[in-house]
Amino acid sequence: QLDVAALGAWVREFARSIAEHKDALTELDSAIGDADHGANMDRGMSAAVAALEEKPPADPAALLKQVGMTLVSKVGGASGPLYGTFFLRMAGTLGPDPADAETFGRAVRAGLDGVIARGKAEPGDKTMLDALAPACDALDAALAAGQPLGEALAAAAQAARDGRDATVPLVARKGRASYLGERSAGHQDPGATSTALLLDAAVATLS
Ligand code: ADP
Ligand code: MG
Ligand code: MG
Repeated sequence: QLDVAALGAWVREFARSIAEHKDALTELDSAIGDADHGANMDRGMSAAVAALEEKPPADPAALLKQVGMTLVSKVGGASGPLYGTFFLRMAGTLGPDPADAETFGRAVRAGLDGVIARGKAEPGDKTMLDALAPACDALDAALAAGQPLGEALAAAAQAARDGRDATVPLVARKGRASYLGERSAGHQDPGATSTALLLDAAVATLS
């Protein structure tokens, strides 16, 4: 059962991992963007964790809503509204009760749909969707096959890392990297990289 404590642990672990990889994320963004993805995500997730401590949310939906609102309000870059929308849409699916694996899978799908609606990108555009969409598909497939949540999350995280790696040769069609045209090829997408960390954090805390 995924209760407010488990989801809080996921958010904290993601924040910790973002802080650990802050410089690496910014380095990736310096090649094809404006060198702030690590700083953006670290500012947003640090604020999200601070909010959890100041105002502990009562239930899963309230927690994810608080994280989403914090990201939207604290991060100026593209990643703030996009990650914020992901968590807000998850919150809308989860409701107040602890979630089972199947409900969690539906919430991740809703989050993905929200990122697509907000950013108007599709897989292959060299964005965070290139990690998130295959992760969501892998999670759904594993849960539909009756795998336990831990194994399904591990499959999703593997799909996210594969999707992240597959962004390297792509030409960006959305976001700042698209301004570079063909010159964006040969670099790993920063947002797909942070999304792979989000799935790794889920494996570490929700399995
Ligand atoms: P900014 O580009 O505003 O400086 P960040 O550097 O924090 O914001 O985030 C950049 C990342 O956001 C990109 O690497 C990409 O993965 C993601 N991104 C940008 N635009 C979109 C979009 N329209 N849809 C999905 N993801 C996007
Ligand atoms: Mg940037
Ligand atoms: Mg920026």
